[in-house]
Amino acid sequence: MAYSDKVKAIYQDQLKSIQDAGLFKQERFIHSSQAADIEVEFPTGSSIKKVINVCANNYLGLSSHPEILKAAHDGLDSRGYGMSSVRFICGTQDIHRELENKVSEFLGTEDTILFPSCMDANAGVFEAILTSEDVMISDRLVHASIIDGMRLCPAQHDTFKHSNMEHLEKKLQLHANKRLKVVINDGVYSMDGDTAKLDEMAALCEKYDALLFVDDSHSTGFIGKTGRGTHEKCGVMGKIDIITTTFGKALGGASGGCVSGRKEIVEMCRQKARPYLFSNTIAPVVVSGVLRVLDILSKSTERRDKLEANTKFWRDGLTDAGFILKDGDTPIVSVMLFNAKLSQDFSRDLFDLGIYAIGFFFPVVPQGAARIRTQISAGHEMHHLEKALDAFIQVGKKYEILGKTKQEIIDRYGC
Ligand SMILES: *Cc1c(COP(=O)(O)O)cnc(C)c1O
Repeated sequence: MAYSDKVKAIYQDQLKSIQDAGLFKQERFIHSSQAADIEVEFPTGSSIKKVINVCANNYLGLSSHPEILKAAHDGLDSRGYGMSSVRFICGTQDIHRELENKVSEFLGTEDTILFPSCMDANAGVFEAILTSEDVMISDRLVHASIIDGMRLCPAQHDTFKHSNMEHLEKKLQLHANKRLKVVINDGVYSMDGDTAKLDEMAALCEKYDALLFVDDSHSTGFIGKTGRGTHEKCGVMGKIDIITTTFGKALGGASGGCVSGRKEIVEMCRQKARPYLFSNTIAPVVVSGVLRVLDILSKSTERRDKLEANTKFWRDGLTDAGFILKDGDTPIVSVMLFNAKLSQDFSRDLFDLGIYAIGFFFPVVPQGAARIRTQISAGHEMHHLEKALDAFIQVGKKYEILGKTKQEIIDRYGC
């Protein structure tokens, strides 16, 4: 069938319904590099505005760090621009293996395999290591890429209520007779910023003879005393069988991801994971940048310590001002507004005051749980945070929500 008017209409209708539901994602153009201060253009023809970014995954402020840029330049000069191959044909350089070893050392695992992204790591790992005799038991709020990975795997799939250990235990009992059981969760959940109970999960996995999988994309580099991740924070380093994570967030923010963990599991991925076998090698310039990131983070905890202090200042400041936050201690700080329209109005007003933060509402978060999600960075200086806090308070006053309870906000704005 040619691209007829009939075909066209099918897509136009669908696009319109996305728009009508208020779910159309409009991208803004950033005219600067990624940092605390950015220059943003809205595609509606507005002028370019200088704003403070409080919604990037740039947790450690390394996305445009001069030392990383230099390492990337060196990698470009010495190893070239692209590999034009997958790893097992002619796409593996010495630095790819070096990075795999460095990641293993950093995470405290036996071995690591690089993927083009963490999305690809999650898409490939389950199918590579499980069969229809096995079961995947996942937290109900795991990341979309894990859900896709599980869809591609013939093992049975079951879920447990978010962070509910009694429910997980029931499911482990229910699936006692399976060949392999894998408990699957995120280390830090991206919408609420809460941390998985990895210590309790590790104990349950030991008791019921299950493997433990953690996607630590929102943790690697800054969670735990030395930034190794959720397993360090929860005191279970060495007990996680499979960790997936990204280089696209705290670790420089370019791209790439990995599966790290038990030696045989990593080797199974190298032999069988389809996004590894059939997609191009990570560019040497990125590998060189991430190597430098891990060097910096291994030598000093200065950046994650600064992030921790910034996060405390931000959470305390918002709480003292009378905002309702999602509980937690991670740099993902959700300011609850409950009402979808209020979240959009709030975000727009913040932008007018020079603060860039996005409002999230259903279906990205549950109905009635609309919010502004902020993400704090070691790249934020005190003047950034103070200005952002002032703006939040100013807008909070405008909508008269400071010091109000959830019920009072919902009574006034609906949900
Ligand atoms: C961001 C994220 C990913 C995707 O990482 P990419 O490397 O960008 O593909 C996967 N899992 C989780 C939990 C994430 O937050």
